[in-house]
Amino acid sequence: MRKYFIAGNWKMHKTVSEATALATELVAELKGGPNKYMIAPTFTSLDAVSKIVKGTNILLGAQNMSTDEQGAHTGEVSPLQLKDLGVQVVILGHSERRHTYKEDDTMINKKVKLALSHGFEVILCVGELLEEREAGKAEAVCEEQTRKGLAGVSADELKKVTIAYEPVWAIGTGKTATPEDADAIHAFIRKVITSMYSASAAEQMIIQYGGSMNAGNAEALLAKENIDGGLIGGAALKAETFKPIALCK
Ligand code: PEP
Repeated sequence: MRKYFIAGNWKMHKTVSEATALATELVAELKGGPNKYMIAPTFTSLDAVSKIVKGTNILLGAQNMSTDEQGAHTGEVSPLQLKDLGVQVVILGHSERRHTYKEDDTMINKKVKLALSHGFEVILCVGELLEEREAGKAEAVCEEQTRKGLAGVSADELKKVTIAYEPVWAIGTGKTATPEDADAIHAFIRKVITSMYSASAAEQMIIQYGGSMNAGNAEALLAKENIDGGLIGGAALKAETFKPIALCK
């Protein structure tokens, strides 16, 4: 039985004091909650939020990570620096990184392997653009991003990987994939994991859905056999909108 993993991606929102206030609220609201939790504030709030979630049932996530440990990489943040701040999970391959900042599968794979080598959990995001879905290529895109993102990742390392299926056309748009459509892609990704690793690895793999998930649609999405949690953007920015998703059973 897979446990739901509910993760909040705060993107480029919140000052340190706002992030601190939300994290404090969530620690109180989610104490004893039934699921696995993570929040990913901006880099600038990681230190403050780390002190708040330390020792609680909420993991600390980073929204991105450099391909390298150190060196001439202006504007990047290294795994060593994230570890220093108590980060436990790294989101990699988010569609905003892929499409706005042009990160390709090779770069994402390098980050995935580096993050795993440093003991982080990884949330690897995959998902198709609207034109790819309309052209009937959703499965092919998700397969390629999954295979390339996980190239060289061992079966043992895979235990620290969560996949987030995030159809790009549903992120921040208010459009959600239907539970049936999302479940079909999740089942397909599980098949890809079976062919890359094993049936038992696929059975254990947590596959989150992401894309305008909210209190109104979370229950129906999470009721699907292959949907094991959510990576949540907009609805993660307030305790009152995140909590109903986080407490789904
Ligand atoms: C996301 O940030 O990964 C996301 C799914 O955003 P939203 O929930 O706002 O669509």
